[in-house]
Amino acid sequence: MSEFPTKARVVIIGGGAVGASSLYHLAKKGWTDCALLEKNELTAGSTWHAAGNVPTFSTSWAVMNMQRYSTELYAGLGEAVDYPMNYHVTGSLRLAHSEERMLEFRRAAAMGRYQGMEIELLPPEEAKARYPFLETHDLAGVLYDPHDGDIDPAQLTQALAKGARSMGARILRFTPATGVTQKADGSWIVHTDKGDIACDHVVNAAGYYAQRVGEWFKPYGGRTVPMMVMSHQYLLSEEVPEVEAWTKQSGHKLPLLRDVDTSYYLRQEKHGFNLGPYEPNCRAHWVDESDPMPEDFSFQLWQDDLDRIEEIVTDAMERVPLLATSGVSRVINGPIPYAPDGLPLLGPMPGVRNAYEACVFTFGIAQAGGAGKVLAEWIVDGATEWDMWACDPRRFTDYTDHDYCVAKGMEVYGHEYAMHFPWHEWPAGRDRKLSPVHDKITALGGQMGAYNGWERANWFAKAGDDTSEAATHTWGRSGPWEQRIREECEAVRDGVGVLDLPGFSRFEVSGPGAAEALRGLVTGGLPKVGRLNLVYIADDRGRILTEMSCIRRGEDDFLMITAATAQWHDRDILTKAMPSGVTVTDVTTTRDTLIVTGPNSRALLAGISDADLTLGWLSHQEAVVAGRPAMLIRVSFAGELGWEIHAANADMPAIHDAVLDAGAKPFGMWALNSLRIEKGYRAWKGDLSTDYTLLEGGLERFVKLDKPQDFPGKPALLAEKQRGVKKRFVTLVVDAGDCDAPYMSCLWHGGEIVGETTSGAWGYRVGASIALGMLRADLAVPGTELEVEIYGTKHRAVVQQDRPLWDPENERLRA
Ligand SMILES: Cc1cc2nc3c(=O)[nH]c(=O)nc-3n(C[C@H](O)[C@H](O)[C@H](O)COP(=O)(O)OP(=O)(O)OC[C@H]3O[C@@H](n4cnc5c(N)ncnc54)[C@H](O)[C@@H]3O)c2cc1C
Repeated sequence: MSEFPTKARVVIIGGGAVGASSLYHLAKKGWTDCALLEKNELTAGSTWHAAGNVPTFSTSWAVMNMQRYSTELYAGLGEAVDYPMNYHVTGSLRLAHSEERMLEFRRAAAMGRYQGMEIELLPPEEAKARYPFLETHDLAGVLYDPHDGDIDPAQLTQALAKGARSMGARILRFTPATGVTQKADGSWIVHTDKGDIACDHVVNAAGYYAQRVGEWFKPYGGRTVPMMVMSHQYLLSEEVPEVEAWTKQSGHKLPLLRDVDTSYYLRQEKHGFNLGPYEPNCRAHWVDESDPMPEDFSFQLWQDDLDRIEEIVTDAMERVPLLATSGVSRVINGPIPYAPDGLPLLGPMPGVRNAYEACVFTFGIAQAGGAGKVLAEWIVDGATEWDMWACDPRRFTDYTDHDYCVAKGMEVYGHEYAMHFPWHEWPAGRDRKLSPVHDKITALGGQMGAYNGWERANWFAKAGDDTSEAATHTWGRSGPWEQRIREECEAVRDGVGVLDLPGFSRFEVSGPGAAEALRGLVTGGLPKVGRLNLVYIADDRGRILTEMSCIRRGEDDFLMITAATAQWHDRDILTKAMPSGVTVTDVTTTRDTLIVTGPNSRALLAGISDADLTLGWLSHQEAVVAGRPAMLIRVSFAGELGWEIHAANADMPAIHDAVLDAGAKPFGMWALNSLRIEKGYRAWKGDLSTDYTLLEGGLERFVKLDKPQDFPGKPALLAEKQRGVKKRFVTLVVDAGDCDAPYMSCLWHGGEIVGETTSGAWGYRVGASIALGMLRADLAVPGTELEVEIYGTKHRAVVQQDRPLWDPENERLRA
């Protein structure tokens, strides 16, 4: 046995599938001097007892990327590391009970095809040909994914470990990490019961123990890891002679079955079945003092609890009657960690330098391969190939306390396979952060949605409108909200509207050298004092990291305003980039914002404020509104004459009342989305993401390649400019039918996929369905006809001129 390593480049805490894959991928990138600590034997956490299903299906582009990569890796891993494993690519049948579900399948199938996977949609009869024991009379259709399968989770982990070891990485079993200390230079000492290891980076891959490990990072800027633990069970049946006979005759296993509307999977296990339900009446564990989390739960399980899943088991027996002919041979009931949205925490640890998370995986076997790749890219390259915001730990901020995590975890588990409709807001864990005018908004009929924990009105209902959750279960445009959105947009077009927008992320950046440091960070120029600019920040590859409104209050005094959801992401960027002497202060919660916009907004504000309303577009000023101090910024994301009013929380109710009394009509986020798309304004982490460079994103006017300062991405953007872009941002008008194009709808031309949409909505001012998207550069010519595949149906779409559809000269905005 070699000596205990006192130094490593990276220390990974946790030896499940994800930790092992992270070590393997670091080593593959040449970082072989890394170590993994496992307090027990490898796989002792959730990994050893996992069912081992490896789907590719997801409605998230990022998660699909990760899962697809896993399947590709697993197919060749045994041979690559000389560790034969049981990996069965059986294909899977995903059953739809409704047309709405079929639309979800069609969308995912198109995304899968775009990623190179031949996913098919079958009529029920054809599914029966692949799975003769299946009852199909009540099905609307079936999705067949030929890449789905199952793997032995322990063998997978051992194979990854073997591969990592053979490249020189160290795995220390029975070596619990007991704490961490960060040194002044940002490097770490990881303490173990066998000694200390000094390292540059540390990774929390502790599975369901991640919250405990996370506590150690609090003195260095960390937060409580947002997670909870669910109990998940699967049943193994006795052998079934018919299954054995069928397997012998066909030469392969049955495809995996997922009855997503009933909420279970059913897989062939040897010659019997493995049935795994996600039951609505689910059970959380270790969430209060009556059920404390034990110090060690390695290789342990809970007692069976079959009552909870009885209904689903009965249903499954009707779907596959053969299941009822065999008895239960074993029940596995084990811990499975959940983040509040059911996706893992994978990426930089919020607020902590040189620390990362690769934990809280609910599908960690299917995702381990891709997760290891992503984690290694974060550490080695500082950026990932695919935009991974969906899994970025910074997507959760300070509102995710224990009660929230438990409520959301239970909700997600109980709806594991639920459809995520664009109009639907999940009810658990709400009202975490309220605007100072929240009660007024709801009294006005505001139908609320959560944005980084902040409640904002999506639309305003009138008496008699159907505001039930059930009404939102549609992919279509029409619903009780449609007429209201139209009215809200028309009010903004013809009169004046007001939108309460709490939770804008705000950072004060000030101190000597602030301007110079920002010049070295953003791609474009800074505004003059008294003005504001939109600024962009790129990564080293010139890809779009973020967009901020930069308000210059003094030579070295800036207020940076960004999307609510970007709060911790952008905080990281700013704090990392600023030199000592320049402070970055998060003042998000101190103020609220109203957008007051429409042709009558000037007249309205003239009646209630002393502001100089002749100041031009992109100006800002301190003023008194309704007798209260406020900052007015002349911008409008809705694309009309308008101002943002930023005021202290205590002052906002009076200002809001005055704006309403002066005749502004309240409008919501869904109207704003329609209005901004008509202007071609991009939204963060849809239209603006690290999947695209600034030049591809059509943001060249925000890039000053000739400025003297170097900024991240400058060489890459220079090179790209010379070479030419591969893709280009376009606005499309779509003959869309009932549904507008969702994110990642494929663009077709001449029988080929040539791009994708990044957002879509109906534009009520222009009377058309609009999509923003990224298109192969040679086709990004006004007038080019394409097809956009929306939920499985291709619709004609035409590339528009490179200017806003509404008010192309910005005359209304600058009026
Ligand atoms: C019944 C059941 C069935 C499942 N089926 C599937 C499935 O079919 N497909 C799928 O994709 N997923 C499935 N899962 C989920 C899957 O098991 C997990 O997502 C996955 O195992 C997580 O892997 P991990 O490496 O993140 O965590 P873990 O496997 O939990 O590994 C974390 C490791 O960290 C170690 N550790 C903790 N603290 C310390 C410390 N201080 N020092 C050193 N080591 C430490 C632990 O001992 C543990 O080994 C299932 C889960 C359950 C409960």
